[in-house]
Amino acid sequence: MGQSRGLRPAGGRADMSASAAQQLMLGIFDLGYPKAGEDGLAWQEYALCAQTDPDLFFPEKGGSTAPAAAICETCPVQQECLEYALSHDIRHGIWGGMSDNERRRVVKARRRGQGA
Ligand code: SF4
Repeated sequence: MGQSRGLRPAGGRADMSASAAQQLMLGIFDLGYPKAGEDGLAWQEYALCAQTDPDLFFPEKGGSTAPAAAICETCPVQQECLEYALSHDIRHGIWGGMSDNERRRVVKARRRGQGA
């Protein structure tokens, strides 16, 4: 990944350092999971949610997921984000445009597809 895909770092500033982007992400993804710079998470540098209200991505129970999902739809790293959440069994928040319930359905569908 990188500039060759036309991606711009979070904040829309090409000059934002990876460490600055990591700091932004910590406020959003600080759930005890690996952070940007660890475990091949350079994609988090391009996360659109880093430029928005983190609370949107962690709605109250029964709250709308639509505002966060709408942002995710335009995020250049949506697929990386979703796969990360699926592979780490993340149960909190909106990742890759999907709620925890939606992600669970994806996991179940994939398991069925593999005959598990
Ligand atoms: S897909 Fe959504 S949650 Fe994931 S990095 Fe992009 S904006 Fe953030």
